[in-house]
Amino acid sequence: MRPAGGKTPAKTPAKAKEKEPWNKTPMLIKDIRKISVPTKNMDRECLARLKAAGVPYQLFDNVAHVRTPVKPGTNKLGGVTYRRAWNNPDAPWIMECKTVENLILAGPKLQKWGIASMYWNSAWRVSYVKGKNVLSRHSYGEALDVTAIDGSFGYATLVNHWNGPANKSRALRGVSAALRDSGLFNSVLTPAHDAYHRDHFHIDSPSRSHQLAVKYDVKSLEAPGKPSPTPGATPPAMGPDSRRDHELSGPPPRPWEPPRSRPRHY
Ligand SMILES: [Zn+2]
Repeated sequence: MRPAGGKTPAKTPAKAKEKEPWNKTPMLIKDIRKISVPTKNMDRECLARLKAAGVPYQLFDNVAHVRTPVKPGTNKLGGVTYRRAWNNPDAPWIMECKTVENLILAGPKLQKWGIASMYWNSAWRVSYVKGKNVLSRHSYGEALDVTAIDGSFGYATLVNHWNGPANKSRALRGVSAALRDSGLFNSVLTPAHDAYHRDHFHIDSPSRSHQLAVKYDVKSLEAPGKPSPTPGATPPAMGPDSRRDHELSGPPPRPWEPPRSRPRHY
């Protein structure tokens, strides 16, 4: 805002204090590396269940704060397609294994509302809870922000359709209620919660009391997410083709800059 007198306000000395960025993910993403066998402290049981269920994934190491970081090798989880929302194209599609497992379990409950896709704009993201000095659940890979859904009701966004038209509003409210009632996530925040969530669902803290009904064996994790490899063959992730993975190699990341339009959220 400009002062009424037309004078420019006295500027504070430049670089008085470097402001800490709200979102540290762009600085941390360069430390990530692909691995093919889980490290000691990872949730091997969860990984083995994903594998037994035939859900492909890439496992990572060194994802800040995330115990078992995976990037699903499919955008279809539990029959629902997870599409990247337009307003955060650089967000990493990385979550704690358990988050992925519970999204898969949520699929059939969401489909009852005619849903085909969820549009997400933030998964793993190292940031603080709004107004608090506490890391958000996104930092642990245990949260997902969803800005819109589509399906038999058309395309419905949280920011425009929470209060109508009726078919879209019903779908948005039905989906959030289904997620909450499922008990798969300990927290589901919606526009009904507060103004920070007027434009997205914040889904977090996957419950440990649900799991995929599959027979699994943690010993199967020698080559996670891949069909039985030829003995002695180099795993593809480690071979020369890995340079084609544009997400983790290629040109250096852009310096962080404040987003032009970003929902305030947890
Ligand atoms: Zn969130």
